[in-house]
Amino acid sequence: MKDIKRRDFLKLSGGALIGMTLGSVSLRASAEQLNPADATAAALKYTHVSPVEGAYCEGCAFIQGEAGKDWRPCAIFPGKEVAAKGWCSAYSKK
Ligand code: SF4
Repeated sequence: MKDIKRRDFLKLSGGALIGMTLGSVSLRASAEQLNPADATAAALKYTHVSPVEGAYCEGCAFIQGEAGKDWRPCAIFPGKEVAAKGWCSAYSKK
């Protein structure tokens, strides 16, 4: 009897773990593009198209995620994605 309960618990735990993992993946997949009008973005003068030649989000030390994507996460704007060709005043060359 005790073994059955333990097995059930392990099954439930495994299911919960898979659910949390898939939930996390779907949250990451649905990250919104950063709106330049957002308060923090506006304060840092973020724009989807860099006004500074040779300075792009894709070459910034704060960019995250997979290289080569048009939209990627940025450490300065958690939960949002920035344009690879974008820029903000926090730009720091890699
Ligand atoms: S800190 Fe600014 S320039 Fe650097 S990746 Fe983020 S938005 Fe782009």
